[in-house]
Amino acid sequence: MRVFGNGTIFNWGPLIAIGLISFISYATVLVHPVTVLFPGAWLLFLAWALVVVAIVISFLASIYVGPGYVKLKWEPPNPDNLKKVQWCKHCHGYKAPRSHHCKDCGRCVKMLDHHCPWINNCVGNDNKVYFIAFTTSVPIGCLYSASVLGTFLWRYWPLLLRSRRNMPSREFLDSLPRIVFANQGLFNGGVQCHSVIKNKTGIENWILKKARHRRGADNPFKYPFDMGWWQNIKNAVDQSLNGDGIHWPVLDGTSPYDLTAEQVAQKAVKHNSRSTMRGEQDTGFLAWRAGFMTMLRCPWESHIRVRPGATYQVWRGNSLWWYGEAVEVLDNGVCTSSTPLERGWFPKTAVSEAEQQLRYVEDRDAQLTCYRQTSTSLTMKSKKREGKKN
Ligand SMILES: [Zn+2]
Ligand SMILES: [Zn+2]
Repeated sequence: MRVFGNGTIFNWGPLIAIGLISFISYATVLVHPVTVLFPGAWLLFLAWALVVVAIVISFLASIYVGPGYVKLKWEPPNPDNLKKVQWCKHCHGYKAPRSHHCKDCGRCVKMLDHHCPWINNCVGNDNKVYFIAFTTSVPIGCLYSASVLGTFLWRYWPLLLRSRRNMPSREFLDSLPRIVFANQGLFNGGVQCHSVIKNKTGIENWILKKARHRRGADNPFKYPFDMGWWQNIKNAVDQSLNGDGIHWPVLDGTSPYDLTAEQVAQKAVKHNSRSTMRGEQDTGFLAWRAGFMTMLRCPWESHIRVRPGATYQVWRGNSLWWYGEAVEVLDNGVCTSSTPLERGWFPKTAVSEAEQQLRYVEDRDAQLTCYRQTSTSLTMKSKKREGKKN
């Protein structure tokens, strides 16, 4: 059974989307009678109205059904798989196959694709079908609206110009977001359909790309979840075939933990290639102090604010920007991710290389280090664990 997620429309993303949908629909209804004059045009109008209903329903379902969360403190049923999964310190549990932590939702999400600001929620296992319906019905509705409104402008533009009213320029300007929205929808709808056919999320594509790089051509990674396009589509539509969004059907000779084990291996490489930096300059949220050229080449992914004196670790970058995270310095030259997690791009000019390079540890290991120092808490922890097992 699906549990309703924690979605809400009362956020800037859904409110802008609702505003756009309402405006476009209203404008289309308004000009339709004077633009589409051929016999039987009402049938086309009816079809378009149904598409708008589909847009609204799939939009609200994407928000309110939610992506589906992995339950807190989740562990693989078979302890042999413990070393093949990553620990999530925010959910105090392990990351189930195909799940990832979303910092906006604050939970590990089943089969996370991405966090979508327009629905103010993640796209994951439970709402993926509705999101695909939304991203494919939006361009269909928008293309029809754009053609009706375009015809209206083309026919009545000279007339409106002669009437010296402001309407044409306003209409023209208002049509721009429509076109942009339609194009983005087309693109996103295409990406989503491709991800269903291949049974691969955007994040999984990225992991596979890194796997090719890490393993080389001699030792290719066998992706376990691609059951063939027809079976993939059936699995996406009838989610009961997918089980509970944690246990997945896989190809013969593979395991649902193959991909998580590959991620663990990739993480180890990443941990070894980290550099420790010290914050020198407060960049502010817009990094405007970093200079015009740096701002011009600002990466599209999320940014973080650099604070003087704070410690950061980086593992990739371009000529002007680093990608990394803020870390908390623990004892013995060890550090771990800060809480709350601050991960993203920041200008290279805002930091300098730290005198001491720190070793990164997952929070779990860091806690163990602390426990070793205070034997009482260690005993308490193990007693708690034993109590749970019993
Ligand atoms: Zn989590
Ligand atoms: Zn999210």
